[in-house]
Amino acid sequence: MIEIKRGIIIIRPCTVEENVGKISGEAHVSYQAEGKQFSFERKKFGELLAGQKAFEKLKFSEKIGIAKFEHEGKIVLFSVSGRIIVRAARDSEDVFDTVKLAAETAWHSAICPVHGQLAGKCVEKQLECVAAAKPPQLKV
Ligand SMILES: [Zn+2]
Repeated sequence: MIEIKRGIIIIRPCTVEENVGKISGEAHVSYQAEGKQFSFERKKFGELLAGQKAFEKLKFSEKIGIAKFEHEGKIVLFSVSGRIIVRAARDSEDVFDTVKLAAETAWHSAICPVHGQLAGKCVEKQLECVAAAKPPQLKV
């Protein structure tokens, strides 16, 4: 269900002096099924990211819909639009793994396009819909 295409991750060298030798990556995760785009429920999005033990120093603005946090020395920005920016990463694999973890963490704040409720509720109630049928999976 979570589709992240390696090819769409943009990698560039970090420009900040303290991060010389490290890289930045940018990706856009989208949750799509049967041609329908899922959107994120903002409050839940922030709660899920805050509940992820691997993410530290998390700040989330529900109003602007952007979360900022640290993950193993990397700085991560994750917007409810699906845009994820990872700074100070070792390599592209490191960016990819971070994007994957963030996307999987936020998955249950996705709203089911069939039932108009959190995808997690569809999974809980074992409803027959795209949200419940496919748990988070990474497609490369
Ligand atoms: Zn559903």
